[in-house]
Amino acid sequence: NRRIVLASRPDGAPSPSNFRTETTPVPAPMDGQVLLQTLVLSLDPYMRNLMDPMGPGYAPPVEVGAPMVGGTVSRVVASRHTGFRPGNLVLANAGWQDYTLSDGSDLLPLDEDPQPSLALGALGMPGFTAHVGLIDIAQVRRGDTVVVAAATGAVGAVVGQLARLHGARVVGIAGGAEKCRHALEVLRFDVCIDRHALDFARQLAQACAQGIDVYFENVGGAVLDAVLPLLNTGARVPVCGFIAHYNDAAGAAQTPDLRPALLATVLQKRVHLQGFIVLDHYGERFEHLLRFRTQMRHWIEKGHVRVQENVVHGLLEAPQGFIDLLSGHHLGKTVVRVAEA
Ligand code: NDP
Repeated sequence: NRRIVLASRPDGAPSPSNFRTETTPVPAPMDGQVLLQTLVLSLDPYMRNLMDPMGPGYAPPVEVGAPMVGGTVSRVVASRHTGFRPGNLVLANAGWQDYTLSDGSDLLPLDEDPQPSLALGALGMPGFTAHVGLIDIAQVRRGDTVVVAAATGAVGAVVGQLARLHGARVVGIAGGAEKCRHALEVLRFDVCIDRHALDFARQLAQACAQGIDVYFENVGGAVLDAVLPLLNTGARVPVCGFIAHYNDAAGAAQTPDLRPALLATVLQKRVHLQGFIVLDHYGERFEHLLRFRTQMRHWIEKGHVRVQENVVHGLLEAPQGFIDLLSGHHLGKTVVRVAEA
């Protein structure tokens, strides 16, 4: 059983030396447990927050020396649990390792699927995050101008496509010309702006001549700076993440103080700013997630929502895949293919 543990805590951006590969015996299930083999591992930005000593508050930090955590599509290979049989496919939280044990309480049975990794992307946590933020919280309406950054990523790509399906005008923000082309041609956004452009703020203002009704906040940083003056009165801002700051080192030079501008805008424009954690919205027995999955599967099959994956090959490549995810090297949902389905 190979597993990747947190070797040390990063100060700023993580590097390969923050991770270590170990080999341990494959554990045997006890009564009430199943043994899971990881087929696909999800890599997600929140894992960076779990590497910090205090963690993000809604989940405990990963201890130094412990395996990195993460969502997986896993196969039951041995079972002493009445609810699961060897061969069952499940959505699990096996982390960055080949094998793990579960008592079944956190497992969601999956149907056999030619592309099981979608359960970690558009059909899973990131897709549902887009749905909760845009539909439940922002209550997107026909004619809204919706702005989303990290627009070709796991969450952003679904946000933009859902907004379009609801009759909104979608302005994406992404890192580089290739990503912007993808947002326009494949995801069918109305506009996409390269956040690295020197005149990025001017381009955004031009693209949002009628102001911004919904800003789906994924990034913070310079994008938020450019968005604030464009928010319309009563704008809705679901706060999903702020990845521009996840690698801020303790004691690093602070960026200019945005607090007064933020508070003034929220007050003067009567902005509805609401943070959310997707885990709170799954439902008692995943029923909300399951309802969402049915709808999303239909949209994907009809071609209304298009999905793109960045596949990392092999568990041992997970650290580099994760470093690349944070720095925006690839587009689409990042997954690690750990074993053949
Ligand atoms: P992505 O697949 O979009 O990957 C991250 C992307 O962030 C990069 O590709 C890059 O895109 C962008 N990025 C990196 N650094 C910066 C920066 N300094 N400024 C602007 N953009 C940057 O990730 P996800 O879709 O999985 O996650 C998107 C956001 O949603 C994250 O903030 C994440 O933490 C949050 N999230 C929150 C959840 C919740 O429950 N609240 C659940 C799931 C995700 P590019 O180069 O194109 O700009």
